[in-house]
Amino acid sequence: MSKEYVIGIDLGGTKISGALSDVDGNVLSQHTISTNAFEGEEVVLGRVICVIEKILNDGDKVPEDIKAIGIGSPGPLDAEKGIIITTPNLPFKNFKLVAPIKDKFAVPTYLDNDANVGAIGEFIFGAGQGTKNMIFVTVSTGIGGGAILNGQIYRGNTCNALEIGHMTLEKNGPRCNCGNYGCAEALASGTAIGKRGKEAVLKDEPTSLKNYDDVTSYEVFLEAKKGDKVAGEILDKSLNYLGICVANLIVTFDPEMVVIGGGVSKGGDIVFEKVKEVVNTRCFKAMAESCKIVPAGLGTDAGVMGAVALAVIESK
Ligand SMILES: [Zn+2]
Repeated sequence: MSKEYVIGIDLGGTKISGALSDVDGNVLSQHTISTNAFEGEEVVLGRVICVIEKILNDGDKVPEDIKAIGIGSPGPLDAEKGIIITTPNLPFKNFKLVAPIKDKFAVPTYLDNDANVGAIGEFIFGAGQGTKNMIFVTVSTGIGGGAILNGQIYRGNTCNALEIGHMTLEKNGPRCNCGNYGCAEALASGTAIGKRGKEAVLKDEPTSLKNYDDVTSYEVFLEAKKGDKVAGEILDKSLNYLGICVANLIVTFDPEMVVIGGGVSKGGDIVFEKVKEVVNTRCFKAMAESCKIVPAGLGTDAGVMGAVALAVIESK
């Protein structure tokens, strides 16, 4: 029997999404359920298995048709051992996720963290198709990244390569959730942009952000685009830090392309123009000119399609 299909599972804090697809990313069936993480690891494992059974059934396939299963999950995790070590939003501790799934379906099963899965997804099905060296940066609540080097995901020694949210950009900068100071995440994430907006309101600065009950990065973008000076300065500063982060990545990896995804990238031109301006100022001309900086190509299904891509790339 030919094994031309793969399964991708996106295990998130609130939902588990699965897709049955061919190796070209054409989805046959898809299903999403709540994670119910509070019920514990065994229940979550059972729910992942349920999703796999449901999409197999809906797609009229059996496990023998499946080449590989890819699972994306928040980290830190051990991709080789298939264990989720711990995660801030899920009550897991050394959760052995892969082995029981592999045993149950007798299909090779692979696990990787959200950012790496995002990188692989963009590389196989998204904006990075056709590249050999590509860096993926995701900027939303936090900042994460993944590197495709010579056509392969680079995981590093402990599977934590490209934890770029914790790249120090300002040695005396604001404290980060990780305990360090001046991390990229504390300066340029969506959370950081919202926080700067709130601080401006508290300091009674002359800004239209005062008109909102709650200020997040969304309101800062909105008011900056309308011409609010304070919001514009907050954004300019934060995007400048994002630009420095991207420039550091370009001088480190000399990639063909940097793909930027996540909520902040939805800010559009204002984001990409600033990042490119900083990169052009800080990087060697040849590197900056040869490296495209583009928005992510995969939309709302990025998580599950990334997991499909993980299964594709690992089973090649
Ligand atoms: Zn940090």
